[in-house]
Amino acid sequence: MSYIPGEVGASAIQNIGAYGVEVESIIHEVDTIEVATGQPRVFQANECEYGYRDSIFKNRLQGEYIVTAVVYRLSVIPVVHLDYGQLQELRLHGGQPKAQEIRDAVIAIRQSKLPEPAELGSAGSFFKNPVVSVEVFRQIAASHADVPHYVISENEIKIPAAWLIDQCGWKGKTHGGAAVYEKQPLILVNRNHATPADIMELSTLIEQSVLEKFNISLSPEVNYI
Ligand SMILES: Cc1cc2nc3c(=O)[nH]c(=O)nc-3n(C[C@H](O)[C@H](O)[C@H](O)COP(=O)(O)OP(=O)(O)OC[C@H]3O[C@@H](n4cnc5c(N)ncnc54)[C@H](O)[C@@H]3O)c2cc1C
Repeated sequence: MSYIPGEVGASAIQNIGAYGVEVESIIHEVDTIEVATGQPRVFQANECEYGYRDSIFKNRLQGEYIVTAVVYRLSVIPVVHLDYGQLQELRLHGGQPKAQEIRDAVIAIRQSKLPEPAELGSAGSFFKNPVVSVEVFRQIAASHADVPHYVISENEIKIPAAWLIDQCGWKGKTHGGAAVYEKQPLILVNRNHATPADIMELSTLIEQSVLEKFNISLSPEVNYI
C-alpha cells in the first residue's frame, strides 16, 4: 500500500487497499471523537465492520465520528503479497524480495499508470471492482475468454471494473470537462474545468453501458458530497 494519496483518518474510513492488501489487515484500533457529544471513543478493528472500501464509518455511523488517530499493528516479519499483476515479476528474481524493493516496484507501477494528483485532478478509482457469481463470470468468459479475474471464494469472482469499462470503449473518452483516463479507465479525471454534472453524467453513462453489455451494476468507490 504505497503511494496511495490521502490522510491517516481517511485510511480507516475507506479501508484503503491495493494489490490484494487492505489496511484493515493492519489496523488495531481507531480513536475517534463523537460529533454529537464531543466524547472520545475507541473502536477496536473488529468493531469497524470493514469490507471492500467500506467501514461502519461509511454506513451506520456515517458523519457521526471524527477519526483522531489510528493504531496500526505491523509485523516485524515481512508478509509479502506478490499475487497481483506486474508484482508477480518480482518472484522471477529468486528469493524473497525485500520490503523496500516491493515498495519501489509498487510506486513505479502506480506512477506509470495513475495520474499525478498535483497535475491532473481525480479521485482515484471511481468504481469498485464488482464481485460476481461463478455463473455470471462463465457467461462473460464464454464470449470473452481473456476476461481477467480473481477468485474470491468458491462462488464469487472479482472482475476488474477497468476491464469492463475498457471493453465498452470508454478509455480516453471525454464528457464536458471530464474524461476517462487513457492509461487506466477506472479513473475519471478533470481534464478541463469539469463540473460536478460532467462527472456525474459520465459516471452514469459508464454504469449504463457496463450494465447493458455485461449485466453487471458498477457501484461507486467514491463518496458523493
Ligand atoms: C491518483 C489516486 C490513486 C488512488 N489510489 C487508491 C488506491 O490504490 N487504493 C485506495 O484505497 N484508494 C485510492 N485512492 C483514493 C484515495 O487515495 C483514498 O480514498 C484516500 O483514503 C483518500 O484520503 P483523503 O485524506 O483525501 O480523504 P477524503 O477523500 O478527503 O475523505 C474520504 C472519506 O473519509 C472521510 N474522512 C476523512 N478523514 C476523516 C477523519 N479524520 N474522520 C472522519 N472522517 C474522515 C471523509 O469525510 C470522506 O467521507 C486514490 C486516489 C487518487 C487521487
